[in-house]
Amino acid sequence: MSAASLDALVARTDALLRDVRLDAVRDWKARHPGTKAVGYLPVFAPVELITAAGMLPVGIIGGGDQVEIIRGDAYFQSYICHLPRSVIELGVNGALDCCDGFLFPSTCDVIRNLSGIWKVLFPGKYVHYVDVPQDFSRGRGGAWYRSELELMRADLGRLAGREVTDADLWRAIRIHDENRRALRELYDLRAKEPWKAPTSEVYRLQRAGLLLPADEHAQLVRDYIAAARGSDRRELDQSRVVLTGAFCEQPPLDLIVTLERAGCYIVDDDLVLGPRMIREPIEDARGADRDPIEALVDAFLTRTVPTAFVYIGEAEKGAALCETVATRRAEGVLFASPSFCDPSLLDRPMLARALDRRGISHTSFKYAENTGQFQTIREQAGTFADSLKLWSDA
Ligand code: SF4
Repeated sequence: MSAASLDALVARTDALLRDVRLDAVRDWKARHPGTKAVGYLPVFAPVELITAAGMLPVGIIGGGDQVEIIRGDAYFQSYICHLPRSVIELGVNGALDCCDGFLFPSTCDVIRNLSGIWKVLFPGKYVHYVDVPQDFSRGRGGAWYRSELELMRADLGRLAGREVTDADLWRAIRIHDENRRALRELYDLRAKEPWKAPTSEVYRLQRAGLLLPADEHAQLVRDYIAAARGSDRRELDQSRVVLTGAFCEQPPLDLIVTLERAGCYIVDDDLVLGPRMIREPIEDARGADRDPIEALVDAFLTRTVPTAFVYIGEAEKGAALCETVATRRAEGVLFASPSFCDPSLLDRPMLARALDRRGISHTSFKYAENTGQFQTIREQAGTFADSLKLWSDA
């Protein structure tokens, strides 16, 4: 693929990143008459159920820096993150009308409260609060999650007007497994040659995936991997860092560009984490003879990424982050949290202690999805990147 094709591919993902009125979803519905779309909030929702019902899963992450908040502020106190305000704004201004239902995962109290507000504001829409377990035993958490999945399977089947069969579920699991594989390959390429697949492009690709069917997105990711691998982009003298804390409210693209220009190669991150929450393919060696709901339960209990809103019992907080630093050969960690994000900010001291114990350098800053001033972050990240180059042993 030529440089021009790579540019065209990035331009397409850039347009999708800016598509806050979900024109791509409207187009998909127009091309598939009679079908429906179901939005899901960050971070994790069992999107396989939506795909299995023949509907389009749509990642809803707010308006970023493109939406002026006029009515959204009226529904929340001032001291919470920005995401719910812009989601409300998009809801009341009609941008999300093309979604026929919404799943609100149990990420934090803010999203739970948003699901209640949504039910009041949009009584004609299907709304479900996805209460995933924090007990990872099969007998309790597994049984609970199974009942939750069966409930959603029936609900989504009613919304789609058809029964969701086991065969439908396996087909959807395979589609999303292929998407997971493509994203994993993308992350591996970036960790190996971050100059060929910069995070500003990887981020656009992931954001595009929130609006595209999972199989179409997997193909887009694979096309990008082939084009980026074949490019003649040169390595720069940048520091390798892991970015963490940004799993829910997403930073503006310009913030990522700023970090790169400040001298950072981001070699791993938790941006747009939802589609990567299950680490490995759900269809395992036991194959499709199994009950597909059991396979979804098993994946959630055993293969979720350790992150702030997943209980890890007695395991050491931060051990997984340190392992990522080691496997990605990173020299330091950037903590990037949305302002007022309790899950991210409450985890940060424990994660920092784990890094300190191993002598891994880190720095931290906060952002909002509509942050527009990057000078301070640029200076901080630039100083951090320089200090890693001067004093890091990695
Ligand atoms: S950004 Fe943080 S506080 Fe806000 S909705 Fe997401 S997890 Fe909750």
